[in-house]
Amino acid sequence: FIIPEWREFCDSIDEIYWQARSNKEGKVASYIPQLARYSPDYFGVSVCTVDGQRYSIGNTDIPFCLQSCSKPLSYLLALEELGPDITHQYVGQEPSGRIFNELVLDHNRKPHNPMINAGAIIVTSLLKRQSSLADRFDYVLKNIQRMAGGEMVGFSNATFLSERETADRNYALGYYMREHKCFPEGATNLVEILDFYFQLCSVEVNCDSAAVIAATLAHGGKCPITGERLVKNSSVRDCLSLMYSCGMYDYSGQFAFRVGLPAKSGVSGAIMVVIPNVLGLCVWSPPLDLYGNSVRGVQFCKELVQRFNFHNFDNV
Ligand code: GLN
Repeated sequence: FIIPEWREFCDSIDEIYWQARSNKEGKVASYIPQLARYSPDYFGVSVCTVDGQRYSIGNTDIPFCLQSCSKPLSYLLALEELGPDITHQYVGQEPSGRIFNELVLDHNRKPHNPMINAGAIIVTSLLKRQSSLADRFDYVLKNIQRMAGGEMVGFSNATFLSERETADRNYALGYYMREHKCFPEGATNLVEILDFYFQLCSVEVNCDSAAVIAATLAHGGKCPITGERLVKNSSVRDCLSLMYSCGMYDYSGQFAFRVGLPAKSGVSGAIMVVIPNVLGLCVWSPPLDLYGNSVRGVQFCKELVQRFNFHNFDNV
């Protein structure tokens, strides 16, 4: 087994969980009712190792939307379909140093990276461009389901409708990028592209299934539950690189420094964390800090690397 002292490891997870649970800081996102309704007390942690050992504690079977955690998955699928060279004709690899939905492009008039809204909207527009919107959505959903080893992956239509209703900034980003010819040729139907983006934000998982997705990344693109290879190792490498530098909003640099692991957070309070060749984990708790990251999630990650040498540079 990749983690030999499994029982002790799970005991530590429990301890860190109960420690973080008493932290009552942060605010649940309230820009749409579907998020505002989540209890601030929800807190779940799920772990899945690359050899398929599982552990869960807390609210790990309650569905929540991927929101920005869909961004690395869309990016992975773009890399698979088009390769990194073509994908990066449209989107950069640099942290933006700005808030995730800032109306800003880099010096080449491209979105900074695929982990912020502008970049994710462009990446979404690249996926299966010859197909209908229905087929494109099906294609992404099926792939996410396979990454999750067939575990809970759904769709919240209410979230999708609310997202679309309150999407002025995302529309502004779309028009701004169309003005600057950021989209691939022929991709001019902004309404469709944004619908597709909102739909991917509205894909539902739970802590358990999200941990399997993270573990698929930890395992180089092979689902540890089913053994199915979903994406190439090189695509995962590219994706983890950008999760490491850009995955935690404007806290990405500090998270890389303190935790030293590739991760992606979403406004629903989820953080998917990848410990390459060891395990994937999902921490979910809705209250967010000022950066938009789950308060308990960040605390959990910090404490985890304090106890175990999971930081990327712990072994120098
Ligand atoms: N749906 C949100 C948006 O695009 C997702 C943002 C997030 O998770 N930070 O604005």
